[in-house]
Amino acid sequence: MDALPSFDLVRPRTLDELIAARAAHSDSRLLGGGTDLVVNIRRGIVAPPVLIEVNGVTELRYIKADEHALEIGAAVTLVELATHPEMVRHYPVVAQAAGHIAGPTQRNMGTVGGNLCLDTRCIFYNQSEFWRGANRHCLKTTGDICHVAPKSRGVCFATFSGDLAPALLTLDAEVDITGPTGCRSMPLADLYIGYARQDEPVTESRGDGKYFLSLRPGEIVASVRAKNTPGLRSAYDKIRVRRSIEYPVTGVAVALRRDGSKLVDLRVAFTGTNPRPVRLAGTAALCGGALGERVFAGLDALVRDQIMAMKTTFTPGHYRRRVAGVLARRLMQRLFEDSLPSS
Ligand SMILES: Cc1cc2nc3c(=O)[nH]c(=O)nc-3n(C[C@H](O)[C@H](O)[C@H](O)COP(=O)(O)OP(=O)(O)OC[C@H]3O[C@@H](n4cnc5c(N)ncnc54)[C@H](O)[C@@H]3O)c2cc1C
Ligand code: SF4
Repeated sequence: MDALPSFDLVRPRTLDELIAARAAHSDSRLLGGGTDLVVNIRRGIVAPPVLIEVNGVTELRYIKADEHALEIGAAVTLVELATHPEMVRHYPVVAQAAGHIAGPTQRNMGTVGGNLCLDTRCIFYNQSEFWRGANRHCLKTTGDICHVAPKSRGVCFATFSGDLAPALLTLDAEVDITGPTGCRSMPLADLYIGYARQDEPVTESRGDGKYFLSLRPGEIVASVRAKNTPGLRSAYDKIRVRRSIEYPVTGVAVALRRDGSKLVDLRVAFTGTNPRPVRLAGTAALCGGALGERVFAGLDALVRDQIMAMKTTFTPGHYRRRVAGVLARRLMQRLFEDSLPSS
């Protein structure tokens, strides 16, 4: 492991102090639990002269959850989220996703804000300075080529791997953002702009694996909110190389409702595949009948169209896409059967 370079650490106690510190240090980075950022600093991937710690801001450290709605502050830790009784009861997909992240050490330190804004990953990027230098770096840092897709014309395909985002996307979550010009809210889906279209230039609203968040300079994620849908059943699962501690090969969140023998609502979202978490579009057309081969064939077609796994990890892209479809199918079957009214 490389030595940690020196930096200044600012520890605000209030949200106002945090925003002021961000405004005063335009080249700063926010520090949640540091479980990803500090690794990247050690590897020389980023070298911020100032880190601003989020965890001391008590206004950002709360969970509200009941049968109607949930609201989670950005400084809540993953272990707090995974074990919160109301979250486990009413929003199992969120609690399960939090409980599947990394290992106990990272879950004790890692925060909701850090997980939602987790940097994208790639085998050519998450390496030491020495290793990356030997490979002439790449587009995401100081190089001028993408080793994954050398003909990509400036587009980076690094993969978003945070586990919480897909879970929250199935609940139609909104995210609250605070910055120097005030507060704004938007659908969580709009926070992620890593579309990585080879045929489209990167813009403010359509980014790639390098520009994957729609945050403006100085802005922070303050909280995330969602309303409950009566009768919705939800769950999260993922495949990883080491079950005890590892980023997802693919993570899948499913939420569904049934009315008698009919599937009436289906929401499926993935992580670990594209440069953004993907909530599958087109699942409404799969509803209205029994959960059977028609639905599974339709799901496979949507996954083929929208899941763009590239060779950015040690597992091949086509394997991750396949695993995504299989995991989603298994979760759907389990949730559909579990939601049968008991006789
Ligand atoms: C061995 C190992 C395994 C891991 N496995 C997983 C895994 O399975 N799934 C997974 O999702 N993650 C995994 N991680 C990554 C990491 O532990 C988690 O994603 C964690 O939730 C990151 O949160 P943090 O608070 O530590 O983020 P930090 O490292 O502090 O920050 C991450 C990024 O978010 C930014 N940030 C932090 N807070 C905010 C905010 N409020 N608003 C805007 N930006 C903010 C930071 O500036 C930084 O760019 C793993 C890490 C390790 C070391
Ligand atoms: S996908 Fe992005 S991080 Fe990976 S090699 Fe290409 S430019 Fe670099």
